Amino acid sequence: MDADHLSQRLATVAKYIPKGSRLADIGTDHAYLPVHLLKRGLIAGGIAGEVVRGPFENAEHEIAREGFTDQLTARLANGLRAIEPTDQIDTVAIAGMGGALITQILTQDFDRLTGVQRLVLQPNVGAMQVRQFLMTHGFQLVAEEILAEDGHIYEVLVADRATETQTYHEEELRFGPYLLAAPNAAFIAKWQHEADRTREVLQQVQAAKTVPTEKVAALTHELAQIEEVLHRVGA
Ligand code: SAM
Repeated sequence: MDADHLSQRLATVAKYIPKGSRLADIGTDHAYLPVHLLKRGLIAGGIAGEVVRGPFENAEHEIAREGFTDQLTARLANGLRAIEPTDQIDTVAIAGMGGALITQILTQDFDRLTGVQRLVLQPNVGAMQVRQFLMTHGFQLVAEEILAEDGHIYEVLVADRATETQTYHEEELRFGPYLLAAPNAAFIAKWQHEADRTREVLQQVQAAKTVPTEKVAALTHELAQIEEVLHRVGA
């Protein structure tokens, strides 16, 4: 992968960055996403944030090599601390991390999102936690995608500032309201795998000397919900 040849996963993230936006790509690694968008004239500029020195230097190098130092600044910083008010960032992308880390990054410096209208988030796992964050922090989902690539399944969640509070029920939080409405092969594969995994965990906890009843109840509930959805979508 490079800035000219994004993975399908990162190309899906790119698709939802509004044209002309000022983007902060948090956890940018090689800065392929913002450089890709700049090369095509699709963003005005922004910030490539990285917390680890090695990837930060990769980002700096890539930005200089492509001649974008005037439009795109690499910053070595933890999460949203890479964003300053003068950057006038209106869109934030966070891709390729777990949902727990994405949620932690967004909550720990939430005030830095002032002025941000869109979040494009690609959790590798734990999308439910990310949806819960969106619901409780004034953002509303506007699109979701799920795709399979190189043996992994990825979800991309796109959210805008909410005009009014959005409430998602448990099923929507777990499966995604847009993904539920248009389930594709990747959706079915993901949830078939999750059903198998949940069944296995359930068997293990039920075989324990002291059976943790609350955990058994939670897993049983989760499994029933997954099976119900799979049945509904004809899987
Ligand atoms: N976003 C790129 C992508 O999707 O291809 C790179 C994903 S890479 C797996 C995750 C990157 O996030 C790593 O370079 C890591 O150093 C960075 N990262 C992890 N936690 C971070 C944080 N709190 N703030 C900024 N960057 C972080």
